[in-house]
Amino acid sequence: MKWIHQRGVLNFMEMTDFSLELREQLNELAIAEPPEVEDCLTSPEGTKKYLIKLDSGSMIEMVIIPEKKRLTLCISSQAGCALQCTFCATGAQGFERNLTPNEIIGQLWIANFYQQPSQQISNVVFMGMGEPLLNVIPVLSSISIMQHQNAYGLSKRRITLSTSGIVPEIKKLASRTDVSLAISLHAANNKLRDEIVPINKKYPLEQLIQSCKDYLINQSKRKTITIEYILIDGVNDSLEHAKQLVAVLRGLSCKVNLIPFNPFDGCNYLRSKEKVIQDFKDHLIGKGLITTLRITRGDAIDGACGQLVGKLTKSIKAKTSSKNINIVNTS
Ligand code: SAH
Ligand code: SF4
Repeated sequence: MKWIHQRGVLNFMEMTDFSLELREQLNELAIAEPPEVEDCLTSPEGTKKYLIKLDSGSMIEMVIIPEKKRLTLCISSQAGCALQCTFCATGAQGFERNLTPNEIIGQLWIANFYQQPSQQISNVVFMGMGEPLLNVIPVLSSISIMQHQNAYGLSKRRITLSTSGIVPEIKKLASRTDVSLAISLHAANNKLRDEIVPINKKYPLEQLIQSCKDYLINQSKRKTITIEYILIDGVNDSLEHAKQLVAVLRGLSCKVNLIPFNPFDGCNYLRSKEKVIQDFKDHLIGKGLITTLRITRGDAIDGACGQLVGKLTKSIKAKTSSKNINIVNTS
């Protein structure tokens, strides 16, 4: 654990405090290999996006976001996603496959050790490609390595699992892990949420919010749940929508993270106007909700996860076209 996850060493023969015999056995029996980095793009603000190729040929993305005191890694749990949220580039690609535990933890290894000198990720968020609660066992295995003292030693507050609302799994989650939970809400009435987050038809808002409340009861030390709400022009960003959000969240200990929509090719939505975003935020704050506005970063490198893979897939599909994908390798 320490050699691989703390020192970044993958070659068993270099693990010099093991006997030669053990090193040779390990060499024969095992491999320690992260997935392959296909490309690394850096935005002007320092956000780095990695395009990673799995051995099955599927592509996934991860993003490293430097902040004042944190270095946050946004990782993927699936190649593609079956849930088809209308604002999401990953959803538009459809589902390819679940990631294995090593492909998930391999992303954290790459983030720490791929570029030299090595760096230390301080926070991990499952907000990349895929729905983590539809790949629960591998996600939980990778979390246990993230938290392990002989590996990355990340505390529960430094790992956030984001879900679109797989209610039966949220109900089971508290007995299995203690990481922070984020809910991709994006709409506060069932009619609209059915449309933009279709899994809502199966697990409607009332069930989702109740499962969040239960999650907090069972784990008394976890005080809040993060509610993610993308603001899409003319879709979910009116004052009426803000009022609905306040009503739906009543009684839930939470903080709201507003996210200006990140446009991508093939999606007709637009980002909400500055003033609309501000008014929406002010309304929530006025009603006593802790509300933050996510700074949009990495627009130049197709910020939201799934967008880069989406472009690449499209460009591969359009074999006859001479257009190249517009990416620059800055690694
Ligand atoms: N499937 C999980 C985790 C991955 S998606 C979930 O839905 O929570 C994580 C987040 O990516 C979503 O909540 C949303 O906040 C963000 N996202 C997806 N598409 C986006 C877009 N076009 N613009 C801004 N954020 C987006
Ligand atoms: Fe899947 Fe999350 Fe994208 Fe919805 S937002 S399609 S659940 S990855």
